[in-house]
Amino acid sequence: MKISHIEHIGIAVESLEKAIPYYEGVLGLKCYSVEEVADQKVKTAFFMVGQTKIELLESTDPEGPIGKFLEKKGEGVHHVAFATEGVQSALNEAAEKGVRLIDQAPRKGAEGLNIAFLHPKSTMGVLTELCEK
Ligand code: ZN
Repeated sequence: MKISHIEHIGIAVESLEKAIPYYEGVLGLKCYSVEEVADQKVKTAFFMVGQTKIELLESTDPEGPIGKFLEKKGEGVHHVAFATEGVQSALNEAAEKGVRLIDQAPRKGAEGLNIAFLHPKSTMGVLTELCEK
């Protein structure tokens, strides 16, 4: 596949209200967008760091993916997202090479990106997102 850069790093937090002041006040980054992704049962906050974003993820439903992650593992890095050309063909390539997919086809994520996830069981424990504009 054709990966150009790390598009974002997704970090699960208990509360955006508590997390944003750390990223702004201590790291000196600027939150440029807060967006709810109803489909994923999360509220997200974005910070730009060079070409890469930090995506903070707060759960809006304990039964959602981030709610479950927080309950099991607590706060911390949730996924790494790579920008790639052609998410569908990247998925096909990964599947051909024996990687387990979470998404068989791309869907819409935050910021209108086409996104799809590879299963952490096939990626040495790192939930891996592929995305494109
Ligand atoms: Zn993401």
